[in-house]
Amino acid sequence: MHNIELTSKETSYLLALWQLEEDKQKLSTGKLAKIFNVKAPSVIDILKKLESYGLVKRIPWKRIKLTKRGNYLALNIIHNHRVLEVYFNKFLSLDKETSCKEASKIDYLVGTKLIEKICKILNYPETCIHGKPLVHTKCVK
Ligand SMILES: [Zn+2]
Ligand SMILES: [Zn+2]
Repeated sequence: MHNIELTSKETSYLLALWQLEEDKQKLSTGKLAKIFNVKAPSVIDILKKLESYGLVKRIPWKRIKLTKRGNYLALNIIHNHRVLEVYFNKFLSLDKETSCKEASKIDYLVGTKLIEKICKILNYPETCIHGKPLVHTKCVK
């Protein structure tokens, strides 16, 4: 299931899709183009990459679906992101915006062991700094 090395850009697209789904929105090329302020062809380039890794499926009418694998990977990275930003904000007293930005730079790279240690120190917070749910399915409590 592992060993896909996503670039930072591919990760942002995967997470944006996951978050659209979390917000019960439709996943489309147009939405991504808007979020990243790029033209549709650049979105499609990234989507093709993600599709080749088996993380998303492009379906008719410019709609997109996350695969089971894509969903699993996104959930993992989202967990890391939210844990890191809580840590930066609460422990290092960085403001929310900086915490979120810095977390985005490493959330897809950081190792499970480190993240689990941070989760423990933070006592498994239930929400991130934006008030979104933080689910610790894989963390040993
Ligand atoms: Zn964030
Ligand atoms: Zn956790």
